[in-house]
Amino acid sequence: MDPTAEAAPAAVDFIREIVADDQRTGRHGGRVHTRFPPEPNGYLHIGHAKSICLNFGVAAEYSGLCNLRYDDTNPTKEDVEYVESIEEDVRWLGFDWGDRTFYASDYFEALSQYAEQLIRDGKAYIDSLTADEIRDYRGTLTEPGRNSPCRDRAAEESLDLFQRMRRGEFPDGAHVLRAKIDMASPNINMRDPTLYRIRHASHHRTGDAWRIYPTYDYAHPISDAIEGITHSLCTLEFEDHRPLYDWVIEHTRPPFRPRQIEFARLNLNYTVMSKRKLLALVEQKRVAGWDDPRMPTIAGLRRRGYTPEAIRDFCARIGVAKKENVVDVALLEHTVREDLNRRARRALAVLRPLKIVIENYPEGREERVEAVNNPEDPAAGTRQLPFSRELFIERDDFMEQPPKKFFRLSPGVEVRLRYAYIVTCDRVVKDESGAVTELRCSYDPESLSGASASRRVKGTIHWVSAPHALEAEVRLYDRLFVSPDPGQDGRDPLTDLNPGSLERLTGARIEPSLAGAEAGTTVQFERLGYFCLDPDSRPEAPVFNRTVTLKDTWARIAGRG
Ligand code: ATP
Ligand code: MG
Repeated sequence: MDPTAEAAPAAVDFIREIVADDQRTGRHGGRVHTRFPPEPNGYLHIGHAKSICLNFGVAAEYSGLCNLRYDDTNPTKEDVEYVESIEEDVRWLGFDWGDRTFYASDYFEALSQYAEQLIRDGKAYIDSLTADEIRDYRGTLTEPGRNSPCRDRAAEESLDLFQRMRRGEFPDGAHVLRAKIDMASPNINMRDPTLYRIRHASHHRTGDAWRIYPTYDYAHPISDAIEGITHSLCTLEFEDHRPLYDWVIEHTRPPFRPRQIEFARLNLNYTVMSKRKLLALVEQKRVAGWDDPRMPTIAGLRRRGYTPEAIRDFCARIGVAKKENVVDVALLEHTVREDLNRRARRALAVLRPLKIVIENYPEGREERVEAVNNPEDPAAGTRQLPFSRELFIERDDFMEQPPKKFFRLSPGVEVRLRYAYIVTCDRVVKDESGAVTELRCSYDPESLSGASASRRVKGTIHWVSAPHALEAEVRLYDRLFVSPDPGQDGRDPLTDLNPGSLERLTGARIEPSLAGAEAGTTVQFERLGYFCLDPDSRPEAPVFNRTVTLKDTWARIAGRG
């Protein structure tokens, strides 16, 4: 394969600079260890791919390791279905975490031991205010908070309450464990944040063993420390939580001191990425499931026909920065187009068939014409297409009264059939309503390999042989949202759904060489776009998803086309 086909190497970004610096100064003995920490409450999306490429990429560049860690501290929203999909998706993207699959829930015992230590050290206390009261005491951005009346509770009393909370003696919300930091801190995250709450809920891994669950802010730094994570990379919304991350490490004194570094999350226009919003699309059946080809999930993109190479290349192109921005989804589409241009086999397919009969082609005769499999890849070779008297062409490649620059088929006009003969339309057949049902044509027998083989005509159109073609369903996808910023100004993003995001065409015809192709096969239907064989296909009833059209809006916007 063409060496330029490899994904561009990741540029040096501020995170890689930090890591390189730590290497120079010999921090952590030169060790680089990252983690990808999804919460198993939904499928991974293209934003997660950015984080995956970064965490696994940085580790690989320094012969380090990257762990897969489920951040499963919230028992009510998590599910094993999500755990399985996450592993499949990370692996499919091309990354390997060896046997280092970890769960924050594996650390529940250690986390509670550290919590008891904080209580004994006077660094945490049990608060018995209600949730409303706690909110009230917290203050605002402009006003300091007030100390809870429970703040000075004796350590032994807090410890006893904590252990009874753990045993399930109290209902949800009766007490919480809070860090004792500073109720007047200008950073609200430091105003005695909650470390543990009571939840009488079954957890997908620990079952009913726990009646208290730690918060993310408490569990994450300690999980990182337990795993010896050197660089804990997370998105920008955790920047204000970093002082708390450091506080937890400083006061629990685990054997290792990790460092949190924040980067800007991926935002894409015309796309929603929050798992909560994606779940709403699935639950309200606005899409066929998490892997619907219109979804920005890894599973959806895979089913749509995106390759792992294209997604990794996209992540390398967008880079990693400290400032929020919005990436044009046209760049993602451009990247997949470039990738498929190199790897996808070409095929002829007719989406909306119109029959043509070549009257001077002998009845019952058929022949084979040679077609190029991929002009970008000479090694892909050629194939033989059956040609016969009755063909299908694309309905909109014919116009009875064409405008001036219409270089396709119209009465009395010649076009070349791709890889085959020149034909002329002699007669238009219509039904009673006046709709065109068939064209009667004639062909130039010398125009393939004979005297007029090199004769040039204005247009070339695609076709398939009617008796040989396979009938297929084709699903034409468009963007799921019509608005560049779905749900802008607090609107429900579902009100911005594109009603035309899926058009299903039954009765498309495709060349017979695609019979028996495997689900996931991508092809370029010439002049139409890139398509991918859907897992819904049956051998006698293939289904193709349109991955992306041939029209490249990003190249045009960027002035590169
Ligand atoms: P969402 O808001 O979509 O539910 P999340 O941040 O809650 O996402 P997690 O499962 O907690 O989802 O994320 C796992 C990791 O992926 C985290 O480190 C998170 O920062 C990162 N991540 C999530 N979304 C993005 C994104 N859009 N761009 C880059 N990284 C992301
Ligand atoms: Mg999260």
